[in-house]
Amino acid sequence: MNIKKPKGTNDIFGEEAIRWQSLEQDIRNTCDNFGIKEIRTPMFEYRKLFERGVGESTDVVQKEMFSFKDRGDREYALKPENTAGAVRAYLENSLSEQVQPTKLYYIAPCFRDERNQAGRYKQFNQFGVEVFGSFDASCDAEVISFAYELIKRLGLKNVKLKLNSLGGNECRKNYNNRLKEFIETKLEFLCEDCKTRYEKNPLRVLDCKNERCKEAIKDAPTTIDSLDSECNKHFEDLKKYLDIMGIEYEVDTKIVRGLDYYTKTVFEFVCQSEILGSQSTICGGGRYDNLIKECGGARTGAVGFGMGLERVLLLMKEQQAKEVEQKTPVLYLGSMGEEGFIKAQSIGYELRKKGIYVEYDIVKRSVKAQLKYADKINAKYVAIIGDNEIETNKINLKDMAKSSQREISLSDIEKEITREDI
Ligand code: ATP
Ligand code: MG
Repeated sequence: MNIKKPKGTNDIFGEEAIRWQSLEQDIRNTCDNFGIKEIRTPMFEYRKLFERGVGESTDVVQKEMFSFKDRGDREYALKPENTAGAVRAYLENSLSEQVQPTKLYYIAPCFRDERNQAGRYKQFNQFGVEVFGSFDASCDAEVISFAYELIKRLGLKNVKLKLNSLGGNECRKNYNNRLKEFIETKLEFLCEDCKTRYEKNPLRVLDCKNERCKEAIKDAPTTIDSLDSECNKHFEDLKKYLDIMGIEYEVDTKIVRGLDYYTKTVFEFVCQSEILGSQSTICGGGRYDNLIKECGGARTGAVGFGMGLERVLLLMKEQQAKEVEQKTPVLYLGSMGEEGFIKAQSIGYELRKKGIYVEYDIVKRSVKAQLKYADKINAKYVAIIGDNEIETNKINLKDMAKSSQREISLSDIEKEITREDI
């Protein structure tokens, strides 16, 4: 059999798996600090949820979604993002009827049929936060300050927070008209996608990655100039709250985000790096006050973000942001002969039951090979049990770092290997 993994997917093991565990642990600890609770939703949903929730005119729905049908002809999609599923679960499980706000997080795989590059895969993992139940700018500040703090704790440097406001429904309508008028004058320079995007949702043109499109629209009117007084106040309040917390940001009027549901605040955390190239956005999010209503609930304030964990890990590696620690055995308890093995196994198992990391020989290697192996796996102590040790009830315990050894009683192994004073 010579079947390879699908392009754009990753096998994670060894040191890489440890990096993932450490990252996930930092995330969970930070969430605990901010009172954000985990939610796990299915890997796939009805396709309609994403058409409604992400937006039919978005690239994600139009080009990137993995859709399939079951035998009953029902149409599903592997989730391309997690917000729509979180909103569905919030409504379906009546979380909206509990005391608000509801602060949720997830760490979950997402699927998008994209051409893979460093930091862009067909299956990737997103960490995300969604806070439901507040229209106030303090909620935007809460979510942004969380992401900012997490990025700090991960040890990442040179990450910039970029902020913009798209305004509410009325502002967006006015802005769309102004933008359409502007784009009409540039149509000949735009890519085919943008020519259709502009009809349905002109904001999408601002999000195009094509360099010619970027150049053509560089002087487009900005959403910030179309904000009404309420939206303007919201944006000013948010900036004030961030200033007070000492969170540095840059207002970037070009940030509009790829998904349809955003209202008012949008933000990205970006880091220019060799390894990520144009995949420089590690985290993107914003406010989406229409989505819950769109999905059948009452009008509810909502703010959230998604963070691409592969990109975060690539950056952490490049910046050597955090040391990862391989867990190594406290004791390698080798054996000689069947009796020796049985004794090593029973002592080893007892120590493991007490939470001590012990290895013993399950390959039935020679003693010489066992010692070599113990060295390779970096065991702190090594001892070998044979008939002699069983008879005398004594064993030589070798401290590998110190290259010293001492004779101890078999029944003292636990005490000796857990001593703090040596
Ligand atoms: P991009 O502009 O890079 O395509 P996006 O706007 O499509 O990103 P979102 O839908 O906002 O991304 O998803 C949030 C985050 O998930 C992104 O900021 C990025 O870190 C990550 N991400 C998105 N698509 C991929 C992918 N195909 N592979 C790896 N990470 C991804
Ligand atoms: Mg994308």
